[in-house]
Amino acid sequence: MNVVIVGAGMAGTMLAIRLARRGHRVDVVERRGDPRGTNGPDAASISVGLSERGRAALRDIGLLDEALAHSVPMRGRIVHHSGRVTYQPYGADDTEVLHAVRRHDLNIALLDAAESVPRVRLWFGHRVTGLAGTEVRTQDRTFSADLVVGADGAYSTVRTHLH
Ligand SMILES: Cc1cc2nc3c(=O)[nH]c(=O)nc-3n(C[C@H](O)[C@H](O)[C@H](O)COP(=O)(O)OP(=O)(O)OC[C@H]3O[C@@H](n4cnc5c(N)ncnc54)[C@H](O)[C@@H]3O)c2cc1C
Repeated sequence: MNVVIVGAGMAGTMLAIRLARRGHRVDVVERRGDPRGTNGPDAASISVGLSERGRAALRDIGLLDEALAHSVPMRGRIVHHSGRVTYQPYGADDTEVLHAVRRHDLNIALLDAAESVPRVRLWFGHRVTGLAGTEVRTQDRTFSADLVVGADGAYSTVRTHLH
């Protein structure tokens, strides 16, 4: 199939890799510019906490070691409630932890991996403005697809058009 994925975030890039490995041709359409070669947001951004579910997905595409190379284990959280402070562990022991990774680094690792898979094309700077059936429209281009996937995050344009 020809697949168009809207959004090159974590979900869009992960799915692109997996679909392309199954033999589909995938165009990933992203409204932002290519973040590679930039240092990411100036302000400290909140890192992503990888659970076993996220780690399994990364393991499956061979990116887990790279993703965890600069991670910090998070064993639990502190909850402040009515003047009391309680510690809630994330797991039964020290092996059941979340791994904090820098969002920008994970995005870039996924983009590099997606780009290295034949049949994946990344289109940066293309904001999707509308859908007509399985045609995906940006300001200056129309993508035709057998399947369209909305991976454009919160306030999804794809979802709005489906409604
Ligand atoms: C402060 C904060 C902390 C979080 N911490 C965690 C955490 O620790 N662990 C966790 O699992 N989740 C966390 N989340 C949720 C996390 O952000 C999402 O799980 C994850 O980013 C979802 O990835 P995604 O690819 O679906 O969407 P996104 O990362 O939002 O990517 C969507 C992409 O679509 C693009 N896009 C949007 N509209 C268009 C359009 N019209 N045309 C083209 N492209 C478009 C965007 O530019 C973006 O690149 C956190 C969220 C926030 C806000």
